[in-house]
Amino acid sequence: MSADATRLSLTTPLAEVPEIPARVVKLLAKESLETVGDVIWQLPFRHEDRRHAADTIFQPSETPVCHQVRVTKTAQKFFGRRRGAGMFDAMVEPEAGAALGQGLTLRWWNMPYMGKAIAEDQVLFVHGKIKDQKGRLIMSHPEYEIVGEDEDAGGAMVHTGRITPVYRLRGGLTQKALRVAAWHVCRRLGDDFAENVLPTPSTKGEFAGWNRTRAMKVVHFPVDQAELEVASRYLALEEFFGYQLRVVHRRRSFVESGGQSHAGPGDQVAQFERSLPFALTEAQRRCVEEIRVDMASARPMNRLLHGDVGSGKTVVAFLSMVRAVECGAQAALMAPTQILAEQHFQNARKWLEPLGIRVGLKTGSRKESGGGLELWSGGGDAPDVIIGTHALLHDRELVHNLGIVVIDEQHKFGVAQRARLIEKGRTPDVLVMTATPIPRTLTLTIYGDLDVSTIDERPKARGKVVTKIRPASKVKEAAAFLKAQLLEGRQAYLVYPLIDESEKLDVKAATTGFDEWQTWLAPHRVGLLHGRMSAEEKDDVMRQFRDADIEALVSTTVIEVGVDVPNATVMYIQGAERFGLAQLHQLRGRIGRGEHTSYCVLFVKDKDPEAKARLMIMEETHDGFKIAEEDLKRRGPGDVLGRAQSGQSPLRFAAYLADTRLVSTARKLAERTLDEDPRLRSRRFDGIRAFVLQAESGGATLQ
Ligand code: ADP
Ligand code: MG
Repeated sequence: MSADATRLSLTTPLAEVPEIPARVVKLLAKESLETVGDVIWQLPFRHEDRRHAADTIFQPSETPVCHQVRVTKTAQKFFGRRRGAGMFDAMVEPEAGAALGQGLTLRWWNMPYMGKAIAEDQVLFVHGKIKDQKGRLIMSHPEYEIVGEDEDAGGAMVHTGRITPVYRLRGGLTQKALRVAAWHVCRRLGDDFAENVLPTPSTKGEFAGWNRTRAMKVVHFPVDQAELEVASRYLALEEFFGYQLRVVHRRRSFVESGGQSHAGPGDQVAQFERSLPFALTEAQRRCVEEIRVDMASARPMNRLLHGDVGSGKTVVAFLSMVRAVECGAQAALMAPTQILAEQHFQNARKWLEPLGIRVGLKTGSRKESGGGLELWSGGGDAPDVIIGTHALLHDRELVHNLGIVVIDEQHKFGVAQRARLIEKGRTPDVLVMTATPIPRTLTLTIYGDLDVSTIDERPKARGKVVTKIRPASKVKEAAAFLKAQLLEGRQAYLVYPLIDESEKLDVKAATTGFDEWQTWLAPHRVGLLHGRMSAEEKDDVMRQFRDADIEALVSTTVIEVGVDVPNATVMYIQGAERFGLAQLHQLRGRIGRGEHTSYCVLFVKDKDPEAKARLMIMEETHDGFKIAEEDLKRRGPGDVLGRAQSGQSPLRFAAYLADTRLVSTARKLAERTLDEDPRLRSRRFDGIRAFVLQAESGGATLQ
């Protein structure tokens, strides 16, 4: 087969790329890398600059260095009887001329076949660390390339002497095999190999002259760092563009699905607001107004209410629910757990019943209750306001005239579940609440189909939270302080980290902690909560804590988001260095909810200055958005995304999510594209059409 006879596409089998050695094809196939596309999307996770050989002096180095060398002598030594046991040495001198200082020995252990590969007088490009071993300079198991002779690469320099891609390996893959495959694939890609998904870039911007094929090649084998950066950004933009097409499409279909106008006189809403024991903050007021406008419109609302822990989202949600009820519709509020649903239900009874609104609770844990409704406060008709968990989703009788759905702590519900609930009503207004402060670029991506209202201010009437970082060895001293707080009638959370993702260890740490704290805090009542307990057991413990039957709660990170126990004023977090900042902030949000001053102590491993430095921001600020930005900068979006994005495919270029400009460009391009081609009929969308339009097949919701 001649080189031009095959036109490569992303689906061309590697076996049809003649230059890739059959041995390499086989090796890759074992790891399910079978096509050109499989290799291309096996993106390098970093690149090493192996362009420049170090100067002619060999010296010990902490980091790997490159040298171009000539082999002067080789020596093979065998040890004992075992086959293959032994070492192979190649003595080398700088290619540029005789060594100015000491000579260098390349050494391979137990690889006798090296004796066949390396011979005197060969010129090698080597890459590795040089160690001084009893006066001799040794480079063990270097990455090497025989200059001009590497058969797999067809004589080209692929592994050294260039900016070299480094891949994540799995199974039996090797760097060299992947690199060789990527090299041949990239070399064979014509300029128009892949249909561009992105519109042609303007002739002036940073992507002038770029297209998909070029970016794909360069991202593996760039000429320099600058080129690599543009290629990565191009592909990141392409990926974000696909995401934005999807969310913008979803958003538009939703809007077109025809909603209801909820524009009541607002008397009951006003009455409710007057009955509250506090005045709304400016931020709450602004969000209430944004929601009011959406609800009054005949188009369905699809809005995210985004606010830090304790910023007072619930009351904003309730005001919106009352607005729907006032227009003769039902309102539903879904919480991720039973305990949270109960908490909302108690608030609803306290706040809404005096206004003559009937409130029901449906959590589905007690099957025997007729009609599925567990508790509700009126007789006769179905309640106006229904609060519950997933069970709500299954009760078609209960929910028959849904005007608004509020979903609390959205990241625990998938998009699909959201869709299912919406299906019940005639496209009701939807308000999604989340307490994960998410930087704007992430909101645009994860919640891109939603409008966003942000409560960026905390109610003033709060006690403050003092946060301190302490070495783990001081925990016993801290127990005395805690005891004093308990004596004053306060309560505490004692949190243990997830260890190595292993639930077992995680439980063990908490269980051991539980025994210790019981001794230290006696006679105060200590409780234990961990992930291995059943939902009922957990609820039971949480209820005891809420009712102050448990004074100090030892737990893993399963303390439910959103739990409101204003009397809890102390939180000790063990192994704080294991947590992301955003997560620590979420945890800390459980205290500081009442009038008393609260104390959060982050215990870190003794002598871990780095961890301490990272956590310093927790002492400095309480602003969840600032902390989230910091987290995004330091750890990338994995942490924030990990939880918030569950159910969506992971992003290849997630690291670029911190790049506001890139994300907003993707958004703008997506809006424009869908204006021009709402069904993405153009051929260039063949590869992503299904992904973008997926929302439609997901349910009747969006059509
Ligand atoms: P979150 O936003 O974390 O869900 P909540 O809605 O649970 O916060 O509110 C936390 C606490 O603050 C509740 O006890 C609530 O009644 C109270 N709260 C809400 N808004 C205000 C306000 N404007 N002034 C004072 N307290 C408020
Ligand atoms: Mg809440």
